[in-house]
Amino acid sequence: MSEYDGVETATRALIHTRSPEPKPIVYCRSCLIPETKPDIFFDEDGMCSACRHYDGRDDVDWAARRVELEAVLERYRSKDGTTYDCVIGVSGGKDSTTQVIRMLELGMNPLCVTATTDELSDIGRRNIENLKGLGVDFLEYTTNPIVRRRVNKLALVQVGDISWPEHVTIFTLPVRIAVQMRIKLIVWGENPQNEYGGPAAAATGNTLTRRWLEEFGGLLGLRVTDLVGQEDIEPRHLIPYTYPDDDDLARVGVTGIFLGYYMPWDGLQNAIFAQSYGFETWPQTIEGSLCNYENLDNHQTGIHDYFKYLKYGFGRATDIASMHVRRGRLRREDALKLVRLHDGKFPWTYLGKSIHDVLENIDMTFDEFIDVCDRFTNKRLFVTDRHGELARGADQHLTKINDDNPE
Ligand SMILES: [Zn+2]
Repeated sequence: MSEYDGVETATRALIHTRSPEPKPIVYCRSCLIPETKPDIFFDEDGMCSACRHYDGRDDVDWAARRVELEAVLERYRSKDGTTYDCVIGVSGGKDSTTQVIRMLELGMNPLCVTATTDELSDIGRRNIENLKGLGVDFLEYTTNPIVRRRVNKLALVQVGDISWPEHVTIFTLPVRIAVQMRIKLIVWGENPQNEYGGPAAAATGNTLTRRWLEEFGGLLGLRVTDLVGQEDIEPRHLIPYTYPDDDDLARVGVTGIFLGYYMPWDGLQNAIFAQSYGFETWPQTIEGSLCNYENLDNHQTGIHDYFKYLKYGFGRATDIASMHVRRGRLRREDALKLVRLHDGKFPWTYLGKSIHDVLENIDMTFDEFIDVCDRFTNKRLFVTDRHGELARGADQHLTKINDDNPE
């Protein structure tokens, strides 16, 4: 996964669910992102910070950024070839495949580090093997699967995010490896705050600090140390989930860059580019999405995206449609049609795997799952019956009170 959305504290999510008063959602006038999205800001023209930030790309001197990038890489490249030039956190997806190719083109010798996903799909496995085949050293770091399943369930029940452990390890593992192998530079892809719209200070920064992770890394107020003592989890189980000490980071001098700062990032373009290097896409539109080229590596992603819809009233299809709108590939009204077709569907399957199998893997029954869904649903955003209960269709589908701004 490469997206770190759903940044909010558990407390805020619970406050939402306490107030059943219906409240129309306000949407960005330019794209389809709603104001309910955490860490998004709307200006006086009703435009969201992600659109505003995207427009700022026109003012960037990309040629100058390229020179800047080459200077950074030159500074960190191993002079005698005894260490790697950089760590790249990779999933095998379109973006990380592109990142690795770009770094190889620039003459870098990277160590690729994968934080194994919660429930790796077959296509995800094939894309990892494809990435290795580009000719790189590669480390796959898999956390204890027994503990991991417990953490998945705890995080789903406590903060409504089954993918919490994945969001944590995607950031912690490359940094831990960098410290341990004394590699000073970590090359990340897009700064999630750029495309998805966060506070300007975070959006323009090009290094990843521990503070950044804590603020915007999608931890939802659940700290790694909070897990100790729950479900027999001990500190020794949490080593890979723990960010290195500031002292260790400083001793090695680890720093990070976001490639999206140096090159104009475009998911679709990366997907097409990566395919010319063997990256494989899904044969159909992915459930809950509106494309077939991203989030291919984890069967739990359907549940993750569905909870975003329950909490904030928008799903993956809205994100992708909005990215295309910003790039002028879709008109807003046509994007809305696609969103109506795909967004927020109950995740009966993801990448073809049944939700019952996904839930069985984390030891949760379907009824328990529906209870957790209801607990995290922001009832102000969805149609309820006269008793104030969520009106679920036969296919479990919820209806939003409004899916666009009133005329
Ligand atoms: Zn917008």
